[in-house]
Amino acid sequence: MTFSSFNLHDDVLTGINSMGYNSPTPVQEQAIPLILDQKDMIACAQTGTGKTAAYLLPLIDKISHGNFEHTSTLILVPTRELAKQIDEQVEGFGYFASVSSIAIYGGNKGDDWDQQKRALTTGADIIIATPGRLLSHLAMGYVKLDQLNHLVLDEADKMLDMGFMDDLLKIINQLPKQRQTLLFSATMPRKIRDLAQQILQDPAEINLAVAKPAEGIDQRIYLTYDNQKLPLLEHLLRELDVQSMIIFTSRKSNVNQIVRSLLKMGFTAEGISSDMTQDEREKALQGFKNKQYQIVVATDILSRGIDIDSLSHVVNFDMPQDAEDYVHRVGRTARASSTGMAITFVNEKDMYRVQKVERLIEREVPKLPLPEDFGPGPAYDPGKRHDGGSSRHRGGNRPGSGGSDKGHRSKHHRGGSKPAGPRLDEGNNRPIKAANHTPRPRPEGGDKAAVSGEGSGDKRRKSNNRNRNRGGGASGQGPKEENQPAS
Ligand code: AMP
Repeated sequence: MTFSSFNLHDDVLTGINSMGYNSPTPVQEQAIPLILDQKDMIACAQTGTGKTAAYLLPLIDKISHGNFEHTSTLILVPTRELAKQIDEQVEGFGYFASVSSIAIYGGNKGDDWDQQKRALTTGADIIIATPGRLLSHLAMGYVKLDQLNHLVLDEADKMLDMGFMDDLLKIINQLPKQRQTLLFSATMPRKIRDLAQQILQDPAEINLAVAKPAEGIDQRIYLTYDNQKLPLLEHLLRELDVQSMIIFTSRKSNVNQIVRSLLKMGFTAEGISSDMTQDEREKALQGFKNKQYQIVVATDILSRGIDIDSLSHVVNFDMPQDAEDYVHRVGRTARASSTGMAITFVNEKDMYRVQKVERLIEREVPKLPLPEDFGPGPAYDPGKRHDGGSSRHRGGNRPGSGGSDKGHRSKHHRGGSKPAGPRLDEGNNRPIKAANHTPRPRPEGGDKAAVSGEGSGDKRRKSNNRNRNRGGGASGQGPKEENQPAS
């Protein structure tokens, strides 16, 4: 199938062409005709499937040929990163089709409230917003959504997880009843279905099976004690052909420690966490996209919605809390059918989560042996809960799991007890020998890699967009946008 089989206008097709998309992804194949046909829709689709373009393309087509003189489209998203990401995609397509957009989000230290207010007062075709911040603006009375035609909820499950349900309903109650509503969610728990029932009318359903990482991702698990993680990370960085890597950690406090250790090892790295201002985060992300750093270390905040192309490796420094988060994190690599590798470090406390992931992705993830000289890692015991509960051993040594003590891991299992070793912040004092290497050149500026990216993301092509009023960041008035479940 090609994009020209849809009933899209030539300017939109040119935009698609300019983005380098040759053929529609499965979610696009299904969603685009339905959206063009004015249907409400509920779609179970994860990040990395092309879901953003699946709704943006038909909406841009309608907007740029619909002569709307008002804000016709509202896209609600959980995080400012996703808001900016979508805004950038609108800009990419909007270069050829005449469409304007504003991103409205909270949580920035600098006060951009007035800038957002001006942009909202002037109006735009599409508003992309985090719920808390939009609600604050709505309360002031200058946002005109009374003629809205299209509402999109993107990553609806994440919005509900972040506690936005009330805000969402308050916003939706202010919208015209006659509208097209599209709901995208990576998972479909009961609460999403309930929400869908409240706000969608006779929706078409798209279900791209269970959220599963793309086929091209080489997924691996290493069973490690915490004190083996940094040495293992270093080993992998030296062994593998790593062009660009994101390391996810569940704990915000780990980010700086991992970055510091990587810099000491001679790699270029930068951290991103909610402790940083919006500007700092953007600079770090931009530096990574510009290949100033080989590695970015992030909390869960980056696992959804951030579009970084050509990412060769994702490392879960710790096992994500939820199986869905695993899928989201792993989805950072092998986007739109390139290949990539996703490596997960699983300590003895997190093993019970492995089976949840494997059930969700309907695939067993190979458990690879620790390298020679690492000493033993923990034995695979997925039945064991970290609360010290009894070991149930539900098929922990399944054939083919690679986690069997009889399998290749046993070779390294020289002793039963956990080896004493460094904590995370003692990575230099590790009990194993480091491979010989030539450190990569580091940027000037001491412990933390220097950041010199443009950062703001506002350096945009001037297009034939109308009213291109940038919302920009905002003051810290959106507390919920700061809410990160895992950091
Ligand atoms: P998303 O799932 O919306 O986060 O998109 C994932 C990535 O796939 C983004 O980098 C998109 O630019 C890219 N993408 C979306 N649709 C296509 C397509 N039809 N062909 C190639 N790449 C695409």
